[in-house]
Amino acid sequence: KSFEELNLKEELLKGIKNMGFRKPSKIQEKALPLLLMNPPTNMIAQSQSGTGKTAAFSLNILSRIDLSILAPQAFVLAPSRELARQILGVITHMGQFMEGLVTMAAIPDTTKRNQKYDAHVLVGTPGTAMDSIRRRAIDTKHMKILVLDEADNMLDQQGLGEQCTRVKSMLPRNIQTVLFSATFPVHVIEYARMFAPSANVLTL
Ligand code: AMP
Repeated sequence: KSFEELNLKEELLKGIKNMGFRKPSKIQEKALPLLLMNPPTNMIAQSQSGTGKTAAFSLNILSRIDLSILAPQAFVLAPSRELARQILGVITHMGQFMEGLVTMAAIPDTTKRNQKYDAHVLVGTPGTAMDSIRRRAIDTKHMKILVLDEADNMLDQQGLGEQCTRVKSMLPRNIQTVLFSATFPVHVIEYARMFAPSANVLTL
């Protein structure tokens, strides 16, 4: 299968080409048709790092956001600020031909007091995400996708898991919830199923 066959927008195909990707990785080929379905469905995907999972959830986000609305529409949560920065880099690179696209990090370093998140896509750590929503620095009204990367690492740690749950509870109820995880121990899969009800489950 090719990226063209995945029905991606022309600007995204250009972005993918610019990144040097020739054809979809296995996880991208499996996940994208399910992620892009309408109405949107939740997903729980098992995928090690190095398999192209970042691009998989990023392409879904970039396909679904409406650039004419400058408000957060997708939130990616990651367990560390380093990972959040990396993901932000991938999304920004991939979306470079989408005119007017604004992406922002919601991580401790970059969050200034009273900063407002005027962006289409946010990538952050759960604590900063939670605080920012609470102090109304993030407009949640237009949010339609929530991604948890390294969900096993987050849902496994009491503090982080709780913060992810809090964040989700403050977002619109019908949000498309996407979980990527390298492993799914029993307690994590249980948590994941509550977090992403009726999800398509994908394993590589
Ligand atoms: P990830 O699993 O998201 O950490 O990605 C691992 C690496 O694979 C990154 O360096 C990506 O740039 C690269 N990559 C992702 N998708 C593709 C693809 N379709 N073709 C070639 N390289 C890719």
